Amino acid sequence: MAKSDIYSPLPPWQRTDYCGTLRAADEGRDVALWGWVQTRRDHGGLIFIDLRDRDGIVQLVFNPAHSAAAHEAAANARSEYFVAARGKVVRRAEGAVNAELPTGEIEVVVNDFEVLNVATPPPFAIDDGESVAEEIRLKYRYLDLRRPTMQQNLRARHQAVKAIRDYLDAQGFIEVETPILFKSTPEGARDYLVPSRVNPGKFYALPQSPQILKQILMISGFDRYYQIARCFRDEDLRANRQPEFSQIDLEMTCPRPDDVQSVAEGMFAAAYQRVLGVDLKPPFIRMSYAEAMERFGSDKPDMRFGLELKNISSALAGTGFKIFAEVLAKQGGVYAIKLPAEHQLARRELDELTDGLKARHSIGLAWIKVADGGWQGPIAKYLSDAEKSNLSELLSAKNGDLVLMVAGSAAKVQPILGDLRLQLGGKFGLRHSSDLKFLWVVDFPLFECSEDDQRLMSVNHPFTAPHPDDLLRLDSEPLGTRALAYDMVLNGEEMGGGSIRIHSRELQLKVFELLGLSREEAMSRFGFLIEALGSGAPPHGGCAFGVDRLCMMLCGTDSLRDVLAFPKTGKAVDPMSGAPSEVDARQLKELSIKVTL
Ligand code: ASP
Repeated sequence: MAKSDIYSPLPPWQRTDYCGTLRAADEGRDVALWGWVQTRRDHGGLIFIDLRDRDGIVQLVFNPAHSAAAHEAAANARSEYFVAARGKVVRRAEGAVNAELPTGEIEVVVNDFEVLNVATPPPFAIDDGESVAEEIRLKYRYLDLRRPTMQQNLRARHQAVKAIRDYLDAQGFIEVETPILFKSTPEGARDYLVPSRVNPGKFYALPQSPQILKQILMISGFDRYYQIARCFRDEDLRANRQPEFSQIDLEMTCPRPDDVQSVAEGMFAAAYQRVLGVDLKPPFIRMSYAEAMERFGSDKPDMRFGLELKNISSALAGTGFKIFAEVLAKQGGVYAIKLPAEHQLARRELDELTDGLKARHSIGLAWIKVADGGWQGPIAKYLSDAEKSNLSELLSAKNGDLVLMVAGSAAKVQPILGDLRLQLGGKFGLRHSSDLKFLWVVDFPLFECSEDDQRLMSVNHPFTAPHPDDLLRLDSEPLGTRALAYDMVLNGEEMGGGSIRIHSRELQLKVFELLGLSREEAMSRFGFLIEALGSGAPPHGGCAFGVDRLCMMLCGTDSLRDVLAFPKTGKAVDPMSGAPSEVDARQLKELSIKVTL
């Protein structure tokens, strides 16, 4: 090795300040800094280096008349070299003040300067202005993370989690870590499996959530538990999903849904206050699942705007419009969204919406434009005057309003109109991100039908308690049974949710039976929980919230990858390390595993 390649691993002097924190008030101070070279400008006599660390950038000045050695060393510095500098803080000359930079009133006149490490020229500039392909960002994540936004995002994440920990600690919650090597937990996704070398042919499953273990902690008497828990779900990655993610997971003994919800609200309020200084003012509104579907066509309604769905069947009883009449005769309904006159859709846009609905859902979209001189639209001529006046009244429709209508069963039509509503809200700029519309959607159904309609499945997970008022329906009308389950929604995004759990052994076995699990299967998968429930389990309930999603909202980004240090791509790959990768034949042999590709 050449002598010039050998650097001491120890810094030449102690740092006194972070670059980005220096201000006019520091004038006259001797400071010692280290950081990365953002830019170097050689002005013949003087050299300027913008030095960057996690707190920002400060300008260094090298004057050969002041320190020839420092000036000479600075001449060799290049972008992303890591350097140390000592010097004096001085005020910049009046014309040289940079109002854009928090440190822009001062600069540091350098006496001593050392390059602590060189850098190959970076593949992209370390600055927020540059737009870089995601794959490249992830491959050179160590450089990408040096960018100011990523530094701020991860710091905001730290603050949010710290605020939540402080809040939960103050509320008497105890953080307990649960194992990563565990058994399959039923959150509805595929498991990541880990072979056990010492138990050949056997596998751990990485937890999809700490669900069962947190229930067991209640049975074990901890009363209030929480954890920032890592969860693993092997799903095909849609946008904004990661194979592993963190959730704030909590559980309480003997809560009512309100008790869990108010703890969660306090937690969110603490995070918003700490990171953004925003006062959330709980309690958030509560809305039943049935109402959310009826009014917004969604179990996570975006409440930043209206355009609510309306069941207009009553205005159309006995209608002469055949398609509507047929649906109404079959106990279906006609549902509408009224687009007020200030939001105009061109005929071409209406046709696009209609074609879109037809292509995606094989369903027709009917529309009518309310006009004083006579209603317009393909179906206007089929509606009687009485129907028109009923509709006007029901929808409070005014001249120029457009009524979009879809007919069918509520279960089919509500989500379709719910999507349409979001499309319209987006199109007309009604989904302003600065508003914060929180709500709880409560009383979800306990079960839904599998796609082939053959089996009952849990809407949440199988440990969710049925609503006490619906207990007697469990056998006769399982699909009409509500659950004591709730989701927190912010601006149309599900932030998390939870439920009161089943704490009776018999009821848990009954629910497993309804889900088509034989007693043997139930015992082999969840026997430990069932036995624990029979050991004096107290009533309990809790919830979990995605840390990543919360941080996205706090940072105002729409990519999960912007709030994670080392995320994976849509193909579950880490381009930096190359994970996942092949392993040695020897390792596979030890695990008694054969790859059959
Ligand atoms: N275990 C649930 C989840 O991870 C949350 C809960 O019910 O507490 O989504």
